[in-house]
Formats: sequence, structure tokens, C-alpha cells
Amino acid sequence: MSISAPKGTKDVTILESYKWHYIEDVIRREVAKFGYRESRTPVFENTELFLRGVGDTTDIVQKEMYTFEDKGGRSITLKPEGTAGAVRSFVENSLYANAQPTKMYYLNCPVFRYERPQAGRLREHHQFGIEVFGSTAPSIDAEVISVAKSLLDKMEIKGIALNINSIGCPVCRPAYHEVLKDYLRGNLDKLCKTCNERFETNPLRILDCKEEGCQIVVKDAPKMIDHLCDDCQNHFDELQKILKILKIEYAINPMIVRGLDYYTKTVFEFIATGIGAQGTVCGGGRYDGLVAEIGGPEMPGIGFGMGMERLLLVMESQGLIIKEPALYEVFICTAGEPARMKAIEMVSALRQGGIKADLDHMGRSLKAQMKFADKCGAGHVVVMGDDELESGIIRLKDMKANQEIELTIEELIGALSRN
Ligand code: ATP
Ligand code: MG
Repeated sequence: MSISAPKGTKDVTILESYKWHYIEDVIRREVAKFGYRESRTPVFENTELFLRGVGDTTDIVQKEMYTFEDKGGRSITLKPEGTAGAVRSFVENSLYANAQPTKMYYLNCPVFRYERPQAGRLREHHQFGIEVFGSTAPSIDAEVISVAKSLLDKMEIKGIALNINSIGCPVCRPAYHEVLKDYLRGNLDKLCKTCNERFETNPLRILDCKEEGCQIVVKDAPKMIDHLCDDCQNHFDELQKILKILKIEYAINPMIVRGLDYYTKTVFEFIATGIGAQGTVCGGGRYDGLVAEIGGPEMPGIGFGMGMERLLLVMESQGLIIKEPALYEVFICTAGEPARMKAIEMVSALRQGGIKADLDHMGRSLKAQMKFADKCGAGHVVVMGDDELESGIIRLKDMKANQEIELTIEELIGALSRN
């Protein structure tokens, strides 16, 4: 019987994990500069965290969640996004009681959505994300955007467009909803079935529908940015002012509304060209009502999620090569059992000295061992035979420089050890 991985999932094998380590390293180094600390929350949460009483109207929550009953009869959901769990943890651990703002990030966070698998769209994917709580300042919106931007720059990713928008707040959005509904009312027959449902529950989402018929209808629809209240307008103006100071290029895209209901004011996406339809690498926004909705105090928040698989896809499509680190710095090839025993001792001493080292465990011939060492990219190769065992003097071959030096076994270990 052969068992395959569930549809829409992807292994990261030993042949590829170094690519993930590279982006993880860049991310950790970058976010530290901005003062973000890591948060880890469970892969599953109580379902109500995502449903939240009145109910979220988005596809992610209504159609795509992996929800099941556990053996204790509780309804459990595998995380369909990172923010709700981060907010729950912020509230439950009373982090709001500390000096604000609170800056956090999560890395390799598994996210589950029952979507149609295709290139760049998986049922389990992984996100890097950041969240900032406690500040309404537009400078924080700009900072959150600049964290994403500086990461993409560090990875030398090109051709990513930053689109921003403001989707208002509970003060101005209800009035805009009515303006939008007045516009759409005469065109309901041209909208898809889902958008007809959205008309009552969340008309803003119709702007974001991928159906061609809907796109034609909404093209000339009234835009939220033309109906912002003074507070939202000032916030949006100030954000743009700071983005200009930071020399971050952006375009205002009034069609960006984001896939979850909790957003307020700023929303944004980083969109890559060149990986097809699934081009959004990073999406985020402000969610000033969410902390209170999840049972915390009235406290604003903002963040983004970045798809790590997509990030790698973009890098690949742009021919950005991530260098695989050599498996071994030293490989000891052996001839004869006594020499092999000595080599086992030497490899152990090298490893204790902080050196990546190994020897053959497959009974290969000396020649095959050399070949294998080369294939592993070993920086140095040593041959241990009876002569070396007797004299205590070995030759260390630098594979790259193609040079050999003679030294004693003690010198070898001493010279290479770094602890
Ligand atoms: P999309 O527009 O691609 O559907 P989204 O708006 O649903 O994305 P978010 O909920 O904002 O995405 O998630 C943040 C990021 O996670 C996305 O920008 C994307 O890079 C990645 N992502 C989302 N869904 C998937 C998926 N099914 N497979 C792989 N990556 C995904
Ligand atoms: Mg989606």
C-alpha cells in the first residue's frame, strides 16, 4: 500500500530545507531591527475564535476552514490565518497591560484553507506575519509596510508592487455601504451568486470578486476612499506622507479590500508579477476593532501575513539562487579497519570542536569515498590509511584550492576546532 500526502500539501524535504532556513534567517534578522519578538500559538484554536458570534462573512471563514469535533466534543479549527490566534494570545496573556506598542512576529505558521490546489495555492501553507498592537499612529502602518518591503529588498526580489487602500471605519463605512448598494442594486442580475449574497452581508467584498461579470460591474462603482470620514482621511494622508519620506513606492488601489472582515482603515498588498494569478505575496491591514471583539480592551492593531511558499516561488521565478551550505567541512576517507576506528575518533573530536565532519558508513571503496565527499561538497578531505595511523601525520586536502598540506592528527583537530 502506498500512502500519499493529503491533496494540497507539500513536503519540504532535506534537499530543500536550506532555502527555508535562508528566508527564515533573513526574516529573523530583519524584524529584530524593528523590535519585533516571536510569538508562537497553537496550530488549532477553538472554532469560535474565527466565527466570533455575529459571524465572519468571508469565504475563508464560511467555506474554507478545517473544522472538526475533537474527542471531547469541542469544535476545533486548524488556523485559517495567523492574526486571530495572535490577538487571542495577546489578550489571554494580558500583554495589553505592558507598555505599548506590542510588536510581534510569527514564522512558519501553518495555515489551513480548503481551497482548490494549484500553483501557489495550497491547502496547508506557511506564513510569516507581524502584528503591532496599541498604536493608531500612521507611522506604525508605514513601519509594518516597511518591514515587508525591507525583507523583499534583502532577498533581492524585484518587481513587487505595493498597493494600498483605506477601507474606512465603523463611522464612515456603513454610509459608504449604502452608496455602494445603491449603485449595485440595478446590476444584481449581472453579479455572481456569491456576490448576490455579499450584497447584504458585505457589499465591499464585491469589489474584490474575481468573476469577470462582477469586475465589469464594479469597475465604475463608488470607491471607499472617496467616502472616508475625516479621521480615516487624515490617517490615510499621513501614511502616504510617511511612505514618501521612507521612499517606498506605492499605488493606491481602491479595489483592495482584503479577505477578512476585521480590517479597518489601511489595507495593503505586495503583488509580484511573474508567478501567475497567485501573485499576492503579502497582504495586511489595520484591525482596530479586533482586540475588543476577541475580549480584550479597546486597542488598535495592524499586521500582515506573507506566504512563505509564494515567496520562494517568486524567488525561483526571478532566478534568485539560494546557496546550499556544504554538508561537511571535513570528510575523512579511510582504508582498513584500524584506520577507520581512528577516523571515528577524529570525526568525533572535530564535531566537538564545532566542525561539520563525517566518514563513510557504507563500506565504499577509497575511490568511491572520495567521490562521495566531493558530491557532498566537503571543503576538506583527509585520507586515513595504515601509514597515516602509524606516523600520525595526515594530508589535508583543500578541495576548492586543490592543495594539500601535511600535519599531525592533533594539529588537524586543533587547527580546525572553533567550538
Ligand atoms: P489570495 O489573494 O492569494 O487568495 P489571500 O488574500 O487569501 O491571498 P491572506 O489571507 O492575506 O491571503 O494570506 C496572506 C498571504 O498568504 C497571501 O498573500 C499569500 O502569499 C499566502 N497565501 C494565502 N492563501 C494561500 C494558499 N492557499 N496557498 C499558499 N499561499 C497562500
Ligand atoms: Mg485567498
